[in-house]
This record gives sequence, C-alpha cells and structure tokens, in this order.
Amino acid sequence: MWTSTAMKSSNPGPSVDDLIRLHQGGDLAQALLISVEAPSQPAVLQRLAHSILCEEGGSPDCRCRSCQTPLANHPDFVELAPTSARTIRRDEVEEAVAATAAGPLWSPSRVIVVRPAESLGREAESYLLKHLEEPPAYVYYLLLTEVPDAMIATIKSRCQVWRMGEHAAEDTDLARGVLQDISSQPLTMNQVVRAAYWAREQYRLTGREHWLSLWDTLSEAFRQLEANGNDELARAQILRQWPMGETR
Ligand SMILES: [Zn+2]
Repeated sequence: MWTSTAMKSSNPGPSVDDLIRLHQGGDLAQALLISVEAPSQPAVLQRLAHSILCEEGGSPDCRCRSCQTPLANHPDFVELAPTSARTIRRDEVEEAVAATAAGPLWSPSRVIVVRPAESLGREAESYLLKHLEEPPAYVYYLLLTEVPDAMIATIKSRCQVWRMGEHAAEDTDLARGVLQDISSQPLTMNQVVRAAYWAREQYRLTGREHWLSLWDTLSEAFRQLEANGNDELARAQILRQWPMGETR
C-alpha cells in the first residue's frame, strides 16, 4: 500500500494513491492542505489533479481528453503561484475563484491549486478562507506546502490536512491543531463533525485503534450536543479520549 520511500518513516502518511482512492470513493474533501516536500509536489499534483479532472473516473491508464492534456493547458485547472514579491496576491485569488462561477468546461470538477500555499499574502489568505468553507460542489482547492505550520489555524481547520512522506512524522502537531479547534469556545457541532471525519480518516490510513475510539467519542459528543447542547460535558469527554502523546 505504501511506497518504498515512505516506508522509511514509522508513519508514512497517505500516498497519492490513497488520496485518489478517497476521491474515487467520494470521501476526499474539496479543500485540501497537502504537506509534502517541494521536490515531490509536482508529481503529487500531476497525479491527483489529473485524477480529479478525469472525464472517465480516473483510472491510471485513462486516455480521455483531460488525462492527455497537460495541466497547464486544461481549462478547468488553475495554479496560483507567487509572482511579484514572492507573494500570491488577493486579486490573483479573486480572479481564480471568479472563474469557477461558470462551472467546469471539460471535467466533472474544477481544480484550483495554491503552491506553495505559504506564499499567500495575508489578504489573499483571508479572502480564500471564505471560499474554502463551502465551495461549489465541483470545485477542489489543493493547497500544497512544505511548512503547514506556517499556515494560519483558520485555513488548516477548513481544510482536510494530509501529511505525506517524511511530513507524516509531524502528525502530532496536526492532532494538536484539531484539538485546539475543539478546545475553542463554544464547542460547535460543526467542529465535532470535522474532528470526527478527520479521526475516521486517520483510522482508515493508519489502522490504529485509538483513532477509532476517538471517532466513537466524537460521535457520542455529537449526540450529546444534539440532545441538550451541553458542550462542556461533550468537550470533557473528547479531551479525556484524545490520543495525545500516542498519535504515532
Ligand atoms: Zn481520464
């Protein structure tokens, strides 16, 4: 399941094939923050974006028009990269987002890539933030970065965060980030659902039992919030169960 280079790490994290499988199963979020070393970014992007854009389900040897077209020439693909002053500007993000309003031209989806995501200027970041929350059903945001911790917490919390290869070793930080989100006041059902979704993916990818227990706890917390809105009780339960210190 894992690539041989990723096996060097004790927790290799997902491979690009895992992400493609999630997409094909309808389980890939539309806003992704992918932590991966810069030299590997083009290859990850190439495979994942092509699979999302494929007009025939994304099989590896597909010869559809979208699979045969270089990403840079694909009408449903936009890559935002720093131009002036090594920063991605707000107007550049605005333009890319505005272009998605018309819907895809060739593919089932449109893909907006931000690379490297840490180059987003502050205003660009806050503009993008609004659009990451509820993108149109056909839009995927792929934010690629080498330094996920340089991203503001609100961006991270709106994205499904994946750490690939060596970056998977930083999973503890990610768990801390999601925990921070849960610890904020007041606890909302939306936060619990997001954390539960994340815990389930961790279980799916690592097979480690504590993610499954956390998923159960989060589901229980959700039921409590739904029943009587007692967020303190729900929060206490989650914090008790949180697998900090053994996230690897
Ligand atoms: Zn195809």
